[in-house]
Amino acid sequence: MTHRTLREEVTVEGVGLHSGRRCRLVLLPREEPGLVVRGASGPVPLSLRAVEADERRTRAAGVATVEHLLAALYVAGVSAAELVVDGGEVPAGDGSAWVFWEAVQAAGTRPLREPRPVLRVAEPVWVRDGGRLCAALPGEGLRVTYVVELRDRPAQALDVVVTAQTFARQLASARTWGYREEAAALHAAGLALGATEQNTLVLEDGGYRNPPRFPDEPVRHKVVDLVGDLALLGAEVHAHVVAVRAGHRTHLALARRMAEAAGLARPEGEGK
Ligand SMILES: [Zn+2]
Repeated sequence: MTHRTLREEVTVEGVGLHSGRRCRLVLLPREEPGLVVRGASGPVPLSLRAVEADERRTRAAGVATVEHLLAALYVAGVSAAELVVDGGEVPAGDGSAWVFWEAVQAAGTRPLREPRPVLRVAEPVWVRDGGRLCAALPGEGLRVTYVVELRDRPAQALDVVVTAQTFARQLASARTWGYREEAAALHAAGLALGATEQNTLVLEDGGYRNPPRFPDEPVRHKVVDLVGDLALLGAEVHAHVVAVRAGHRTHLALARRMAEAAGLARPEGEGK
């Protein structure tokens, strides 16, 4: 497989999920490998090195909430593009990866000459943080087994091989979710200011406040978040990833461990 880019420019506008401000994202075709963000002093590669994350969201190269976009690009095979972001955050769309998936499908993709790096997990690697666990086991393709523990209701689990088909049908439209009782604290922390009942599934009293798109929408969304975080490896990933009670921080710690084990980690400033 080679790197791929977009056939044409893609624009997505809307509110930032966390900032609540109007944001605009333009994706431009790029002839060189890599996803980069246009910066004042040149393009900044979207990679594990450019990342800060908390369990709520992933921020890379100065752009907040990149994970749903990156998941859609990864599954569509797009590994060469330039992002131009106004407003500091990727627009929320409907809170899922759907808006990006649909836009990329509409634009179409085309191959570049350069082969896309492949990351194969040879030996199991894992990270643990209290009750959180993320492990990568050898496997063909990208398979994810995710377990999410929820308050006041049974845990949700999903085992899925991530392909364009499963992504489109089972994952891409699963929205960001949160507990109603956490909304005030998140707002006080300057987070989720753009969250609405259209772009966020709200959990309350053992049920959902607004209609879910899937009975297990939360765990499906967690798989999207994980795929978006693994996309920062900049490679086609072959692994069976198991995540239990994990979040962005744990996903990214696993990605770093996978890069090290595969010999992809390079000293600062060297290589792509
Ligand atoms: Zn998410």
